[in-house]
Amino acid sequence: MSKFWSSMAKRTEPYIPGEQVSRQDSIKLNTNENPYPPSPAVITAISKEMERGLQLYPSPTANELCQKIGQVYGLAPEEVFVGNGSDEVLAFSFMAFFEPGKKIRFPSVTYSFYPVYAKLFDIPFEEIPLHEDFSVPIKRFYQSEGGVILPNPNAPTSLYKELDQIEAIIQNNPDQVVIIDEAYIDFASGSAIELVAKYDNLLVIQTTSKSRSLAGLRVGFALGNKTLIDALVRIKDSFNSYTLDRLALVGAKAALEDQVYFKKTTEMIIKTRQKTSDMLTTLGFNILPSQANFLFVTHATVPAEMIYGQLKEAGIIVRHFNKPPIDNYLRITIGTDEQMGKLVEKLKEII
Ligand code: PMP
Repeated sequence: MSKFWSSMAKRTEPYIPGEQVSRQDSIKLNTNENPYPPSPAVITAISKEMERGLQLYPSPTANELCQKIGQVYGLAPEEVFVGNGSDEVLAFSFMAFFEPGKKIRFPSVTYSFYPVYAKLFDIPFEEIPLHEDFSVPIKRFYQSEGGVILPNPNAPTSLYKELDQIEAIIQNNPDQVVIIDEAYIDFASGSAIELVAKYDNLLVIQTTSKSRSLAGLRVGFALGNKTLIDALVRIKDSFNSYTLDRLALVGAKAALEDQVYFKKTTEMIIKTRQKTSDMLTTLGFNILPSQANFLFVTHATVPAEMIYGQLKEAGIIVRHFNKPPIDNYLRITIGTDEQMGKLVEKLKEII
């Protein structure tokens, strides 16, 4: 703290991301990155853009990328907004749709950036307790005062809610914006994007960080009614005209163009998820039914913190949240078959 800090700088409690490790030989299963590299088309597009030189600013409207995303999801470019990772799109959405003085709702166990944004922007919030099995109590999200933000699948629980239940939340908040954070949706059974044309209060946020292997490029996007997108553009243009650089714009576009590669790698991860889940079950783990690229697990007898520590010593990094009610759980990102094999071998020694 310093007398020079604004009240905003004083009150904020910054988000702490999962660690990035320097050990080359470590197996990194802690931040839900994709174990496969991006489509080769991404590298080609970025190299080509670099050859053109970087002396010019990128497009402030990112119209080519918005057009591509719209085309992939059956929406107009005016119904698409892009930002520097979905974290930035989320931050802009809090500013664009939520108000100081009006309580928003999100689950008590969820993405820990939501309370950070809420405090930063002075937006009051209500954390809705999950059911004992960590499922989301849908009706508790009806008639919110200030809006709703809900990840589907939820993180770190990995649980997915069927679309009819998501739709019920949207219908029961007709005068508030409902944000569905679909960071992990490509590993699940169905996106709320199909509801965008039907509801003017729905904003769906996705990312290229997980299923398109582009966590290092930082490209997220939002899909919604044009009036919602207009609000996001107003916020962005009052903050930074060029949130995405030229390499990110062309790289993300190339990734979205290569649907074949995207489907192949996504299916591989889903298969590995099932295999890993079966192997961990035989080791005495209880695993929530995951529809994401990670597993949320607890062991019948061995404490999560101990497993976390011993894996770390062996160079296998998973995520442990030291916060009840999830302090006896581990979140394990799905890697390659080989990486998961090594994880299981080490766990056999620990347990
Ligand atoms: N939403 C959820 C639920 C997440 O887990 C993450 C990843 N930490 C994000 C959003 C942000 O992803 P990115 O900024 O990389 O798009």
